[in-house]
Amino acid sequence: MIIHLQENISADNARKISSELEGKLIFNNKNKLIITSSKTKSIDKKYEDFISEKFVLESDIQLSSKDYIKKTRKVKINNIEVGGETNNTLMITGPCSIESEEQIRESANLLKKLNLTTLRAGCFKPRTSPYSFQGLGVEGLKMLSDIRDEFGFNIISEVKDASHVDDVIKYTDIIQIGAKAMYDHGILRETGQQNKPVLLKRGFGSNLQEFVQAAEFILSEGNPNVILCERGIRTFETKTRFTLDLCGVSFLKEYTNLPIILDTSHAMGYSYGVPDLTRACVAMGIDGLLIESHPNPKVAKSDASQQLNFKEFEEMFSSLVPICKAVNRNLI
Ligand code: PEP
Ligand code: MN
Repeated sequence: MIIHLQENISADNARKISSELEGKLIFNNKNKLIITSSKTKSIDKKYEDFISEKFVLESDIQLSSKDYIKKTRKVKINNIEVGGETNNTLMITGPCSIESEEQIRESANLLKKLNLTTLRAGCFKPRTSPYSFQGLGVEGLKMLSDIRDEFGFNIISEVKDASHVDDVIKYTDIIQIGAKAMYDHGILRETGQQNKPVLLKRGFGSNLQEFVQAAEFILSEGNPNVILCERGIRTFETKTRFTLDLCGVSFLKEYTNLPIILDTSHAMGYSYGVPDLTRACVAMGIDGLLIESHPNPKVAKSDASQQLNFKEFEEMFSSLVPICKAVNRNLI
């Protein structure tokens, strides 16, 4: 149950009521919210005078539910917005990992040429093998931040464990929580306690309820700026890296109020399939895309097989424009 307390309730009183109801208390500007387990379907009459509004939810998809907020939330990333009434489809691109200043400058020039706003590159890479390239760490974040200062892009990079959260917050504009970190409560809590937009990727072994409940951990710490990212789940299929769950995307659009971004690169795992898959996604009417691109994918230090070279990216990008138009979306 989500309970909106009356404005005149003191903070101390709010804390007392919340603890009696075994709820989570959020101070949201002037509003004080208590969120209890969705198993709570009614509360004692003695609390009625303190309450301005309450919402009884079916499951622990609560703050992110369309039964609570009827429209997709708007998330502001400095000068741009996704979700809400914007109809924007945000193109996020860049290499899987930042590898050098020269490489990221080439990527920045691609974004500039296409008038794109949001550059992504990983600095702390959650690799499957400890012997693979692990990323440039804080050095990479500083390079990204310099590029932001020079080009005016928004920067997105990934946090791999809770000890990196402060650095990623300091140097970026959107914090990415990767598929393998989706269940990391330290990261979810830390990113929930500040206000920067968070892009939460779906764990490849998680169902939709678990995915959205991970988002609830961030929202219920008080950060309303959460964007979901479907990036493929593991199925019996082995010919592609993962299976992009487009049925799941329809569910998320229908039942949750969070903007949704699709990552076709990690889902497909092979560059040949990324443009077609991306066109299909755009036709669904989505809030954004995450596509890996690299000046020379053959020598990429991570995810080499799936990154588009710049020619492939540009061709795909121009083919998305009419599809976006047809579904009444602005590709930004
Ligand atoms: C990435 O975005 O480069 C990445 C590692 O993705 P995921 O967390 O979806 O595997
Ligand atoms: Mn990658």
